[in-house]
Amino acid sequence: MKKKLIIANWKMNKTYQEAQDFIIELKSFINKNPINCKIIIAPPFVYISKAINILNNTNIKIAAQNVSEYLEGPYTGEISIKMLHSLKVNYVILGHSERRSLFQETDTIIEKKIKIALKYGITPIYCCGESLIERNNKQKFEINKKQIETALFKLNEKEIHNIIIAYEPIWAIGTGVNANPIEIQEMHSFIRTLIKKKYSNSISESIQILYGGSINLENIKNIFLQQDVNGGLIGQCSLNPSKFLKIIKSI
Ligand code: PEP
Repeated sequence: MKKKLIIANWKMNKTYQEAQDFIIELKSFINKNPINCKIIIAPPFVYISKAINILNNTNIKIAAQNVSEYLEGPYTGEISIKMLHSLKVNYVILGHSERRSLFQETDTIIEKKIKIALKYGITPIYCCGESLIERNNKQKFEINKKQIETALFKLNEKEIHNIIIAYEPIWAIGTGVNANPIEIQEMHSFIRTLIKKKYSNSISESIQILYGGSINLENIKNIFLQQDVNGGLIGQCSLNPSKFLKIIKSI
């Protein structure tokens, strides 16, 4: 069985010292203990370089939490894909619901960012998910289908191969209420079938589909038992080093 993938999304949290201490503790832990999962840490941009230096010679990878849709130029405050590439960042989280709702990122902008990331060999971790209203209106399959189709379905087979999908129902993010494992499996299987119909059986089987939304030590086991869940995108529970290490140990 393939190892599960754990992505720690730190969002806009931690001081420099806290970030450094966390990464050192994580490195020392994995150097002493065999672990049964793959780990990606997504720190704020300003700590990426430090994290990469500390994690050199380990299997832990780094993701950026965002990237500019532009390649370079007069875009004050933006971070480009060339910058991430030059730091040897391997992954970038795109389409997160916080970016969609708080920073007005549209499907068109996200699609542009995905293309740019792929061009530079950086793997997009593409987030999709329905809101509570959409869920209550029984539109969750329709919404996730639309998000997957608009952002991903113009990609060719080689490109889609380099995408990780994270199903993150918005109502479960940071709320302490996770989606029910049976419903998670249903959605993951639905997404896999969409990929199969558009691309191929082998791509649909190999593409990694993660779940995100209030994962914690109590619920992770049942979520990860689901056949089509390849791992998890974790926000809140990835911030505290001892909680995060417990999560890793539990897999
Ligand atoms: C997230 O923001 O991607 C996330 C899953 O957060 P949390 O684990 O806090 O719900």
